[in-house]
Order: sequence, then structure tokens, then C-alpha cells
Amino acid sequence: MRIDVVTIFPEYLAPLRAALLGKAIERGLIGVHVHDLREWTHDVHRAVDDSPYGGGPGMVMKPQVWGEALDEVCGPERIAAEGRPPRLVVPTPAGRPFTQRLAREYAEEEWLVFACGRYEGIDERVVTDAARRMPVDEVSIGDYVLVGGEAAVLVIVEAVVRLLPGVLGNPASAAEDSFSDGLLEGPCYTRPEQWRGLAVPEVLRSGNHAAIARWRRDRALERTFHRRPDLLAALPDEALDRHDRAV
Ligand code: SAM
Repeated sequence: MRIDVVTIFPEYLAPLRAALLGKAIERGLIGVHVHDLREWTHDVHRAVDDSPYGGGPGMVMKPQVWGEALDEVCGPERIAAEGRPPRLVVPTPAGRPFTQRLAREYAEEEWLVFACGRYEGIDERVVTDAARRMPVDEVSIGDYVLVGGEAAVLVIVEAVVRLLPGVLGNPASAAEDSFSDGLLEGPCYTRPEQWRGLAVPEVLRSGNHAAIARWRRDRALERTFHRRPDLLAALPDEALDRHDRAV
């Protein structure tokens, strides 16, 4: 998978090269290209923002700079080289919620381009124009407002890349994580059996795989019921069996 990120703070994206993501780069599973938006400015101040039409506080990112940047990063020449257009992801609190489902969808893509906004955001016409040439998603990572899109990109890329084949040591861990079956994952434990007067639940030490699977499912259902009843309500009827309903 090829990942391009356009930002005014390239150094903010350094963690894309750390830990699991760094290993994925080393092993050739992903290619990461971070671009400084200011490279596409033409004035001495390298300005990327201007005051908003209609007045109001804050500044808006200029369409000309973004237009030139995206023309180069994912314009016709690059699209020809890659063989297909990328999916352009624009983080914004006003976007569709980023979920595990969307992470799985992105993990199927060969090329993702991220456009990091700052200030009040990017001039609306940039997205409208880009959508003439490629699929564009405006995506929110939660109902709160960050200072810029960079932290959102780190979140999205990490969630996506760990789903790529070969990235996680044990692919089953992604399959059993929270949200994969629509529920939150229940508690987990490791050695020692007793710690500060707290014991690991007996069943997990029993070796009875069926009982362990049932216990895990029950705890996942309980946790989801208490913390995220919205997830339970969204499950289709057939997702819950007779035992589940008794929990
Ligand atoms: N004026 C915008 C609004 O009210 O919707 C907020 C702009 S925010 C201060 C600046 C940038 O941070 C946005 O353009 C976006 O790139 C990023 N951002 C902030 N909150 C975000 C969120 N919850 N999800 C994704 N990106 C976010």
C-alpha cells in the first residue's frame, strides 16, 4: 500500500516510521511519503492560509496551494504511474465517523492520500475539485476538535496498516479485537495467577476451551452492554444466540 500525507508539519508524522509501522515500511508492506504543503507556495512568506470570506475568526487554507499540491501528489501523472487514482482522505470533525469498518475498507485500497487541514480547515472547493478525479472521504476520528489533521492521520493509518496481511505477528489478534464481531473485547490477563490480592479468573486457567470461549463472549457482551449499548443495539438479530440473550 502506498500512503501519501500532505501537511504543513511533516515532522509531526515521524511516528509513521516508528514501531509496527516502521517495520511494515522496512518489510516493503507499505510505502510512506510525507509532503510539506509549503513547497507549493509561491510567496516569500510561504503562506498557506487567508482570511475567511464572510468574516469570522480564524484563517482558511488556500485552494491554490492545496490544488497544486494534490495535482502533483496525486494528479494525472502519478495516477498514470500507479495505474489508478488513490482514495483521498480529508480529516475533519465534520466528516463521517472513522470506524473499524472503514479501517477494513481502507485496508483493501492500494493507495491512500491524506490532506491535513489546519486553522479553520481547507477551502471547500479543494474537496469538490479533487472529487472530480478520485474518491474523496471527509472523515472524523471523534466528536471533538483537534488543532490539525496530523494526529487524525496517525490514528487512521495505524488502524488501517495493522489490518494489512503480514503486519501483525498473529493475524488472529485483529480478528478477535473489539468491533470485529460488533462487540467490545472483554478483559485479558497474563501471569502471575495472583497479583496484589487479585486472581486471574479460574475458567481461564481451566484448559476448557469451550468454557473459555463462552466466558470471553459473556464478558464481551456485559462490557458492551455497560459501556457501549449503542453497539449492542446496532447488532443484527442473528448476531446473538440463545446463550448471548441470557447474559
Ligand atoms: N473549523 C473546523 C470545524 O469546526 O469543523 C475545525 C477545524 S480544526 C481546528 C483544524 C483541522 O484539524 C481540521 O481541518 C482537521 O484536519 C483536523 N481535525 C480536527 N478535529 C478533527 C477530528 N475530530 N477528526 C478529524 N480531523 C480533525
